[in-house]
Amino acid sequence: MSIAENLDKIKQTLPQGVKLVAVSKFHPVKDISEAYDAGQRAFGESRMQEVDQKQSLLPKDIEWHFIGHLQTNKVKKIVPYVNTIHSVDSWKLIEEIEKQASVFNVSVNCLLEIHIAQEESKYGFNFESCRCFLKDNDWKSLQNVKIAGVMGMATDTDDLDQVRNEFRSLKKFFDELKNEHFTGYKHFKEVSMGMSHDYKIAIEEGATIVRIGTSIFGERI
Ligand SMILES: *Cc1c(COP(=O)(O)O)cnc(C)c1O
Repeated sequence: MSIAENLDKIKQTLPQGVKLVAVSKFHPVKDISEAYDAGQRAFGESRMQEVDQKQSLLPKDIEWHFIGHLQTNKVKKIVPYVNTIHSVDSWKLIEEIEKQASVFNVSVNCLLEIHIAQEESKYGFNFESCRCFLKDNDWKSLQNVKIAGVMGMATDTDDLDQVRNEFRSLKKFFDELKNEHFTGYKHFKEVSMGMSHDYKIAIEEGATIVRIGTSIFGERI
């Protein structure tokens, strides 16, 4: 099946209001163009150099989503064109995004990455560290950074009950944060969860953004 056919098939399964980010990491520019020609505008990349190169070659109305771990020294490269950073997990990183976004006079949507999987990971807040981070109230002074919701990845397992429970815990946490900290803050509305193999469960559990690569572009080389 072609990229356009894959996209079409996936879009038919998405309820209204759920955004599809086509994860194009490791795939060539011509594949992105093909998806673009089929109407797709939101693309996800996980490495600074890769997205930097690709965006320079592709139409300017593409909405770039950064989904990989981001080092502070790479922020200033992507801030001018990135729409959403899904992988924000420290105040230090947010401060740098705020600083660079004000230099370039742009706003950047940032999602708080929450560690929900059983697997070990160096990245992401856990629930408690995220609560502490928000209690500090420093984030209220942000001007160019919009805290737009949460992002998480479920454990890579065949145990679908576990996957469902992890997604459910992220949605529940999102609701908690919304009620405790973001009532009246209109930007905080996204729950980014679900990849090729588990996005249908994620949608059932309340995802507003799904990030799908392999089912659109095939296996990464
Ligand atoms: C690679 C990646 C995806 C896409 O995964 P697929 O299994 O190819 O759909 C989604 N989210 C993140 C954070 C990723 O790194």
